[in-house]
Amino acid sequence: MRRKNNALGRINKQIVMKPTHIEHIGIAVKSLEESIPYYEEVLGLECYAIEEVKDQKVKTAFFKVGQTKLELLESTDPEGPIGKFVAKKGEGIHHVAFAVEDVNKALTDAEEKGVRLIDKVGRPGAEGLNIGFLHPKSTCGVLTEFCSK
Ligand code: ZN
Repeated sequence: MRRKNNALGRINKQIVMKPTHIEHIGIAVKSLEESIPYYEEVLGLECYAIEEVKDQKVKTAFFKVGQTKLELLESTDPEGPIGKFVAKKGEGIHHVAFAVEDVNKALTDAEEKGVRLIDKVGRPGAEGLNIGFLHPKSTCGVLTEFCSK
């Protein structure tokens, strides 16, 4: 990644699109039905929505923890991104999503800083949000999502 250093030799921290909070954490599971009881019965959270996102070949279940959500992702197709992820790595944290004011601006800003993008422009995600992903090779191994309303 291209880095610009400031006078103190630190990475230039000039951020145009600073995230306001973690919107959600995406967690890949084999089965929503088998995973939801853990979140409800052990953690005491409530699943408030289940939604299929055909574009991403997943069924999602949502929980709220304060301002942040947990998004469980069950693959509906072994060839989809979550199907491949679970086959290779098993269940677990899949991505971290940051709330930003404008996904398209945040993606452009990241690209200008040398980050490889998965999405050049935002696309529709679950819950009517506009979403876009950065490539994990450019984000220290964490698949990173931006989302905005
Ligand atoms: Zn997500």
